[in-house]
Amino acid sequence: MELVQSSKEAIALENKHGAHNYHPLPVVLSKGEGVYMWDVEGKKYYDFLSAYSAVNQGHCHPRIVGAMTEQAQTLTLTSRAFYNDVLGPYEKYVTEYFGFDKVLPMNTGAEAVETAIKIARKWGYEKKGVDENEGKIIVFDQNFHGRTTTIISFSSDQDARRNFGPYTHGFIKIQYNDKEALEEALQLNNIVGVLIEPIQGEAGVNVPNEKFMQNVAKLCKEYNVLFMADEIQTGIGRTGGLLAVCGNCSCQGHCEKQSTYAQPDILILGKAISGGVYPVSAVLANDEVMDVITPGTHGSTFGGNPVAGAVAVAALEVIRDEKLTQNARRLGEIFRERMNKFIATTDLVTLVRGKGLLNAIVINDEPTSSTAWNICVKLKENGLLAKPTHGNIIRFAPPLVMTEEQLHECCDIIENTIRDFESSES
Ligand SMILES: *Cc1c(COP(=O)(O)O)cnc(C)c1O
Repeated sequence: MELVQSSKEAIALENKHGAHNYHPLPVVLSKGEGVYMWDVEGKKYYDFLSAYSAVNQGHCHPRIVGAMTEQAQTLTLTSRAFYNDVLGPYEKYVTEYFGFDKVLPMNTGAEAVETAIKIARKWGYEKKGVDENEGKIIVFDQNFHGRTTTIISFSSDQDARRNFGPYTHGFIKIQYNDKEALEEALQLNNIVGVLIEPIQGEAGVNVPNEKFMQNVAKLCKEYNVLFMADEIQTGIGRTGGLLAVCGNCSCQGHCEKQSTYAQPDILILGKAISGGVYPVSAVLANDEVMDVITPGTHGSTFGGNPVAGAVAVAALEVIRDEKLTQNARRLGEIFRERMNKFIATTDLVTLVRGKGLLNAIVINDEPTSSTAWNICVKLKENGLLAKPTHGNIIRFAPPLVMTEEQLHECCDIIENTIRDFESSES
């Protein structure tokens, strides 16, 4: 393979030979370390996306990369036709870490969501006694759970859905953060589960009311349906709790002792469970739920492979040993405080919202305008990489290994860029 000599050349190659399923910011990255990335020309950037919160532990964390290379030189893939000597220890580690009886290992986030949907349906028929093939799962407006045919069947995003039918049945969509709507939907027949993001990341970092997730947990219990938390983006330290359903604690896997903990029946993890070095995802549940999975009912060639197990243990150890959850909570407060002060001085930003280091600012323009995109292009020129989500919203989610000093430097870049942008527009 020839190496590209310039950003321009790399972009031209992707345009010519790759499917056009993304619209990236025009920057070509060739190196990452901690909170930084470098482009092909050697320009250095702060990463303020963290690959959609997969790189919580920072780019190329030596402990995680070390675990991967060591395992890759020993044994990479056996398939589940045989046992391997890493999977069991990994399964023990991850279930104790998050406080569940069992884990089902997969590779990507969408696969883990699909797995959770299958488990919930099977549980509905075999344990709850729901009418055969009539099981329904409650989902929420503006959700993002991945890109498979079943998952896009209940998406609100027309680009994600249009011309991909026929769609999968069995989903009821209600308003997010609406307890009454949830209670009403739970009274319908044949409900098996509620699939929810504790904070809607892709929708623009929609944070529900403080008690909403606890209410979801309580109502699910009351109506005997499974509470399925998609923590693929919010989990693993990102929002200042080990999980977003932990509330504001940093109890690191002992959240059940905390009054704020909204205990899911099914926990869906991906992204940062590998620190962004390898595709790893996981579905966790207790025995009475996971029991419905028996030999032949579900699987994946790569799911549970030894490299994934070694990587995930190292990635979770880093979160705990480097106290990244606590750092995310502390820096998040500093970030929102600075943005709120700044917002008081500008007309271009109306709002900052978020939890821990999953935050977004709302740009004061039409959702269809290119203002947020243009600001992100300027941020890039000034050495900080972020991306708009849902038109006029910019998500800010740096790696959790950031220091307070670096965060202040990033806030300076953001504030100066927006100020310059504002004066150049007027
Ligand atoms: C990214 C994401 C997914 C999908 O994960 P993939 O690895 O891209 O398939 C699902 N749910 C949420 C909340 C996500 O952020």
